[in-house]
Amino acid sequence: MREFTYERAKTPVEAARIVARQRGAKFIAGGTNLLDLMKLDIETPTHLVDVQDIGLDRIEDTAEGGLRIGTLVTNTRLAADPRVRRDYGVLSRAIVAGASGQLRNKATTGGNLLQRTRCPYFYDTNQACNKRAPGSGCAAIGGVSRQLAVIGGSPDCIATNPGDMAVALRALDATVETVSAEGQARAIPIADFHRLPDATPHVETALQPGELITAVTLPRPVGGRHLYQKVRDRASYAFALVSVAAIINEDGSGRIAVGGVAPKPWRRESADAMIRRGAGAVAHELMQGAHPTDENAFKVSLVERTLAYVMARERG
Ligand code: SF4
Repeated sequence: MREFTYERAKTPVEAARIVARQRGAKFIAGGTNLLDLMKLDIETPTHLVDVQDIGLDRIEDTAEGGLRIGTLVTNTRLAADPRVRRDYGVLSRAIVAGASGQLRNKATTGGNLLQRTRCPYFYDTNQACNKRAPGSGCAAIGGVSRQLAVIGGSPDCIATNPGDMAVALRALDATVETVSAEGQARAIPIADFHRLPDATPHVETALQPGELITAVTLPRPVGGRHLYQKVRDRASYAFALVSVAAIINEDGSGRIAVGGVAPKPWRRESADAMIRRGAGAVAHELMQGAHPTDENAFKVSLVERTLAYVMARERG
């Protein structure tokens, strides 16, 4: 690990100001992803700004009837919150499907949204990777790609977003709240928060330099039955090959978001409109334009089979 300096910020704006002004500075909260990346020399911050004292660790009711989740709320607390379990079950289930209990105790809401891909070439500094070293190429294209994206990728990167929580937030139409170094607040719909790689795979979110996530806001409860199904290579502590976050109402309407297949949580509202026509129709709409490799083409049919399983459970 390379040498770095460290300080603890007292307010969100102070933290944002330090990171915006100091080249090589980064925020740290739970550190569950960042510290691993620093040990592997993939992330090399020169200065860490710890945000654990800035006070954004509460889950509050909003005037609109939803919930505002402070960026420092841990995954364990969020999944266990009675309001989340009652009204946003898809979120609680998605969080519990991710990582281990120990990691969920440390991982924060804001940090979870910023976790980096698990593409094996991103983690191997001897390999070309446009995300880690812009312009160096992409060893995954033509390489081992079983885990990687089947839709939404580009000729420069086919990495997947590894999150579970974010897939549920996409189904719930959450909003990401931020503050800039100048103290300006911004609300970013979760649909726009994660970017597709295009020609700049190293730019993964809509955040500006120094912009700090302060909260995630959930709209008022949408009702329906909430399900989260994750398909992975082993029973626990593995990233999704395919995951499905589903909210399905008694009249057959609903929302579907999919993880493990794209560089961002994948949802098309046009696919929601197909729910009454069955899993095949939803999957067809979601996967229109897919470009799988020989190694990961199975994910396209796995999306349909996982959807069929979820929709059968919903009826049962
Ligand atoms: Fe890097 Fe993306 Fe290619 Fe993986 S898929 S090697 S993360 S550029």
